[in-house]
Amino acid sequence: RESSAQKFQRQHMDPAGSSSNSPTYCNQMMKRRDMTKGSCKPVNTFVHEPLADVQAICSQENVTCKNGKSNCYKSSSALHITDCHLKGNSKYPNCDYKTSQYQKQIIVACEGNPYVPVHFDATV
Ligand code: ADP
Repeated sequence: RESSAQKFQRQHMDPAGSSSNSPTYCNQMMKRRDMTKGSCKPVNTFVHEPLADVQAICSQENVTCKNGKSNCYKSSSALHITDCHLKGNSKYPNCDYKTSQYQKQIIVACEGNPYVPVHFDATV
């Protein structure tokens, strides 16, 4: 079965991709990555950087997670990301997202041995 680390990659990694000039990026990717099964996942971020660069965040600045846990880390530099936000008038199974591109620092939660990202906590 899918590990937490694999789930993070499925939900949040798209190193080769970009949402430039593609307002339908989130509608396509949220479906392709199985985040529109059973319900529409309301908010999700994709990271367009090499996997190794995102894994390296687990050894960067330690910060408190939104849930109060202490296993979160903030990227030292800004990364290319795409935020997907479910539109208010979207009705399952037609999950309709707004696609927004940014270059921002990100915060991920890390776990395990090897210590790798398992949850996307925030952008800053
Ligand atoms: P995401 O939060 O990346 O959108 P999920 O909610 O599907 O994706 O999965 C997050 C996973 O990360 C869960 O299995 C959760 O238990 C785990 N996790 C580990 N540390 C944390 C943390 N500090 N905050 C939230 N989730 C965490």
